Amino acid sequence: MPRANSHPSLESVVRAPALDAVPGLAHGFSTRIAPRGHGAFDLGMQPGQDRSAAAARRRQFAQMLSGNGDPLPLVTIRQVHSDVVHAVTDLPAEELAGDGLITNTPGLLLGIKTADCVPVLIADRNVRAVGAFHAGWRGTLARIVEKGVGALRQHYGARAEHMAAAIGPCIHSCCYEVSAELRDQFASQFDYADELFTDVFASDPVREKYPLLFMNMRAPGHGAPPSRPHLDLVEANRRQLLAAGVPEDAIDVSPLCTSCRTDLLFSHRAEKGKTGRMMAAIGFHVAG
Ligand SMILES: [Zn+2]
Repeated sequence: MPRANSHPSLESVVRAPALDAVPGLAHGFSTRIAPRGHGAFDLGMQPGQDRSAAAARRRQFAQMLSGNGDPLPLVTIRQVHSDVVHAVTDLPAEELAGDGLITNTPGLLLGIKTADCVPVLIADRNVRAVGAFHAGWRGTLARIVEKGVGALRQHYGARAEHMAAAIGPCIHSCCYEVSAELRDQFASQFDYADELFTDVFASDPVREKYPLLFMNMRAPGHGAPPSRPHLDLVEANRRQLLAAGVPEDAIDVSPLCTSCRTDLLFSHRAEKGKTGRMMAAIGFHVAG
């Protein structure tokens, strides 16, 4: 069984035990709870937002992860729901577009923004390389996390068996109804696709109220009631980590669903698009 984060209370940053156990590693998943209790801890920079206030909150987040001393510089990217992973060695002069960041440069934090999508953080304790990945359904379908582990291997000689990983708070299958078409797309890509979907046969209020209206539409006992597939993006990304060779007991999975816990987390779906952004970040301290 995947282990769960042990910090479900109202905190500004939640951490994963599997990554906490890696010496010299800084990491965390922000929540919507601002430190010292003022306002929402929105780390997005949506159009129309006060960028300097958002930048100040990001510095505050980086500081909370960095511990004593100056906050480590935080690399972010313009996320586009792709499978593009960038290897970085410094703060890029211009913001890159993509959905994954990797580095083996110590003293650098890699950050991914989410508000329902799956944030995945990975560290290889031997070669001291890290990755941060953003996996919505598109990125998951494009196997960004599986490719991310491959990129860590290619660029830095990292090995999956030396990795620890954490899947942060995101929308869970309880709240993630998707289309039948999306289910077909997953079925064409993953041989374990059946295990990623739950059918919810939600009763249709119109159908219950006026059963006679529907009597002639379908012979009794024939035809399935309309199913509402729910996708488990958490399990989908956990399976990608496993497929890439990351040991099962080195993968932490947060039990927090963004859509169920809008008291603690931002949810794009639950809040109908008008919400903030959380950030997941990871990086090694400079040794010494
Ligand atoms: Zn939920």
